[in-house]
Amino acid sequence: MNDTIRAKMAIVAPAATQKKQYTTAEIQQLDTAHYLHPFTDFKSLASTGSRVMVKGDGIYIWDSEGKRSLDGMSGLWCVNAGYGRTSISEAVYAQMQQLPFYNSFFQTTNVPAVELAKTLVEISPPGFNHVFFAGSGSESNDTNIRLVRRYWDLLGYKERHVIISRHNAYHGSTMAGASLSGMTYMHAQGGLPIPGIVHIGQPYYLENGKGMTPEEFGIKAASWLEDKILEVGADKVAAFIGEPVQGAGGVIIPPSTYWPEIQRICDKYGILLIADEVICGFGRLGHWFGSEYFGIKPDLMTFAKGVTSGYIPLGGVMVGDRVANVLIDKGGDFNHGFTYSGHPVACAAALENIRILREEKIIEQVRDETGPYLKQQFEALTDHPLVGLAETCGFVAGLKLVKAKGETVFDFTPYPAEVDVGMVCRGHMFRNGMIMRAVGDRMIIAPPLVMTCAQIDEMIALIRFCLDETLADLTARGV
Ligand SMILES: *Cc1c(COP(=O)(O)O)cnc(C)c1O
Repeated sequence: MNDTIRAKMAIVAPAATQKKQYTTAEIQQLDTAHYLHPFTDFKSLASTGSRVMVKGDGIYIWDSEGKRSLDGMSGLWCVNAGYGRTSISEAVYAQMQQLPFYNSFFQTTNVPAVELAKTLVEISPPGFNHVFFAGSGSESNDTNIRLVRRYWDLLGYKERHVIISRHNAYHGSTMAGASLSGMTYMHAQGGLPIPGIVHIGQPYYLENGKGMTPEEFGIKAASWLEDKILEVGADKVAAFIGEPVQGAGGVIIPPSTYWPEIQRICDKYGILLIADEVICGFGRLGHWFGSEYFGIKPDLMTFAKGVTSGYIPLGGVMVGDRVANVLIDKGGDFNHGFTYSGHPVACAAALENIRILREEKIIEQVRDETGPYLKQQFEALTDHPLVGLAETCGFVAGLKLVKAKGETVFDFTPYPAEVDVGMVCRGHMFRNGMIMRAVGDRMIIAPPLVMTCAQIDEMIALIRFCLDETLADLTARGV
């Protein structure tokens, strides 16, 4: 065995407890033989083989071939505090030794869960004094449906069960999560949405805003909620759910007028407002929660991902006083919960993660320094011939790839769908060590919140280089 191969094999030995060492090819073979990946075309993955990630540090990840990439996606919108935080691993290890698991059923509790509940109340906006824990974002949104229907039942409004969501929203992948989501390709598999969930249009200015200012369009897009409430019947609508900024849908940043108008309409009809903060929470928009950025006061907030920076799965719902008081005062069992609700190890990871975000003032840094700097640098990408529009909000950003620009942002020429320009661009990004995701013709990032201004420069230079390569590639192919 030569030294290069030996070095590579060393890299593929992932966990301290795992004795066997693999080559990349061996892992890829076993991967396609046994592992069905999420949201994946299994057949096509089998022909290409997975990239095998083995290590992370700060904003970088390494694959089994030793190739380093700048992780512009924070894993999957979650590694807010960056990779390689030994204090989180230590907190997890200590808790595992002390008490690896106990449930919160049967009038039992555990110390990390209680401490985390108290901490979450401290960092949440006023009016949030309770939390319901789950294991993921999807489970948390399932929980939201159970919570709002129970709330209206307890108040004697048995008919008020309909939840309004939006097209191109992402709220998870369980039967209820996928139903709340507005992805038609998800609904097409499995007979979704489940009854009692309806959708309205998304506040995507480039899609529907032609002839209006962004502010006018924001009011217009919010008015679709009122139209739907009147169509369904206000006495049947339980809640409206939305991500402050749509993430998986392609980083759709609503005009500033949108959320205040949504709030006004919910208040007018007494409808509960659910903010799905799974991406926007824990500092992504430069505030603890995205609702604070947009100045709205939801009744329920879903969280997951960034709560532990992804180090261990955890999700939950911040339950505002309006709902919590009814559930508590009226009494009776709430027949819902999970084995892992309030898992002590996950809660210990979250406590340490939140301590890091607080003490290192990472969220303030995003709000005051790195967020504005990213905005300036990222928006400057619009001078590139491929970029029709580039926008950021805190530490999420998206740009639209176009074949040719026009007078206004609405007059661009798109690449033909069969070119799949987003995937072409993503290919160049990944090959050059830049993790940037494609959603249709939108290229998106959500970097770790610890990214410095110097690292933003490095990332923007890399993105520019890859855009140049993409353009050269497309030109060479004559498209
Ligand atoms: C990722 C995501 C979810 C689902 O979370 P899982 O932990 O994957 O179940 C829900 N809502 C939003 C906004 C998300 O981005």
